[in-house]
Amino acid sequence: MSPKRTSYLRKRFCNTLIAAHVFILLSALCAYLLTSNIFGLLIVMISSYVAWFLGIDTKQSISDLKKEHQQVLESKKLIQHLADTDSLTGLANRSFAKSRFEAMQLELDPESEEIGLYFIDLDDFKSINDLFDHTVGDELLKIIATRLSRLVDNDGVVCRLGGDEFVLFVKANRPFDYDILAKEILLALSEPHAILGAQAEITASIGITVINDQVISFDNARKQADMAMYESKQSSRNNYCFYSENIHQDYMKSLNILNALKNALNNHVFDLHFQPKVNIKTHEVVGAEALLRWTRENPDNLTPGDFIPVIESTELIHDIGAWVVQQACIECAEWHKKGHKISVAVNVSALQLTRIGFYEIVINSLHTSGLDAKYLELELTEHSLIQENPMIKSQLKALKKLGIHLSIDDFGTGYSNMGYLTSMEVDTLKLDKCFITEIENSSDSFAIVTAINGMADVLGMNIVAEGVEKESEREVLEDIGCEIGQGYLWSKALSSTNFVDFVGRNVPVLDPA
Ligand code: C2E
Ligand code: CA
Ligand code: CA
Repeated sequence: MSPKRTSYLRKRFCNTLIAAHVFILLSALCAYLLTSNIFGLLIVMISSYVAWFLGIDTKQSISDLKKEHQQVLESKKLIQHLADTDSLTGLANRSFAKSRFEAMQLELDPESEEIGLYFIDLDDFKSINDLFDHTVGDELLKIIATRLSRLVDNDGVVCRLGGDEFVLFVKANRPFDYDILAKEILLALSEPHAILGAQAEITASIGITVINDQVISFDNARKQADMAMYESKQSSRNNYCFYSENIHQDYMKSLNILNALKNALNNHVFDLHFQPKVNIKTHEVVGAEALLRWTRENPDNLTPGDFIPVIESTELIHDIGAWVVQQACIECAEWHKKGHKISVAVNVSALQLTRIGFYEIVINSLHTSGLDAKYLELELTEHSLIQENPMIKSQLKALKKLGIHLSIDDFGTGYSNMGYLTSMEVDTLKLDKCFITEIENSSDSFAIVTAINGMADVLGMNIVAEGVEKESEREVLEDIGCEIGQGYLWSKALSSTNFVDFVGRNVPVLDPA
């Protein structure tokens, strides 16, 4: 209490005390005058004082009680607020969101209303923490919380489940355009964030489920949206996907694969195989692409097409990817010792490049194997190069400086913006198999291959035609002037020993059958 208020209260108390005394004395005087009895006077005075003190005491107790009650109410409110909110962002936490969801569900008119629940997971948030520090990561989460909150009205709920996972749900009148809200969320999050002098960029993957009954629990609805989010992360990040029965089944399949892959590296379940890259005219082997094979304890003979997207959607890709680079360098250095001075190419996913430390992984692999950097090639997707991610760009530029070659995998299937080809100093374009398969039957495919080959010539890049299976395809490619090919026409991916034999024999043309 302020000193001013204390002196004011004291003054008021004194005035009341004087007034009470005057009142008691006057009442006692009246009693004396009326009864002319000194005992009566004393009795009236004493009982008046007792009554007066009791009155003051009771009043004081009531006011104390009132104050305490108010304090208890305020503390309760604070405790409830703390129990309901996420301490970092101030958003609803899981348990509060659950109760809001249940309340919303009870009020739902199943004829016309439904709940749209969005599970939002930031893409590779860990690299923000690695790149900057945790303070920046925390600030980013707070900004994201504010941006998400702006997208819903008072009835909508935004909650942080923990880490970089958020849930947002709204009551919607059917029909509701869930795509619009999903796009708004992606847009709101992808705008650059200026934090503590740093410029952080992030995207998110979203899963959506639509609830129109009062049966499904909040946790199950959240799980459905989580599965849809996982699907969206696997296909392409910065995107959204709706929950469906198929997605549920894919998710369960991925979960089984992930369980089987636990401790995969320690259990040595992988091998690295090598598919020859061959001079289309002379059939001489000029290099190899390293391809991951799950050779031991593979539950359903899963192919790379089955398990690599699962690995790429988790942190596993970093350790497995590092092992691939290391192993490829070691094997290639061995080929050199045997007199085969050819290069090795490894597939690198965008996610690997977003993580700080990929550059060091490459340096260490070159160092321990003794391989010259110019014999190592990284096969990247257009998606990796098109991203405005500073970590990807800086690591690739540093790798290029070492003398490492870059090639674009599945070229022609992705983007039309090709500015990155020259800005990132790409060395090789790998023409996607789909053009080669169609090269004899489709004039479009023929024209595309011819055009890309011409463009590569002008830009001083190499071309590798992927998936060459027939001699007739090879002939067309030779006519176009394409120099290097890869495909079952020459060989499938081989174990390192078989690959060395293949190079040694330098077999001209194999029958793919
Ligand atoms: P990719 O990089 O496009 O690799 C070429 C794929 O085409 C390989 O499939 C190869 O076996 C297959 N292929 C080669 N020639 C022919 C042909 O003439 N006909 C047909 N039908 N197919 C041919 P694979 O080994 O199943 O790999 C599939 C994909 O998995 C690869 O596609 C690549 O994206 C990914 N992958 C493989 N190994 C790794 C790895 O170590 N790391 C990463 N991140 N991805 C990998
Ligand atoms: Ca490849
Ligand atoms: Ca490819």
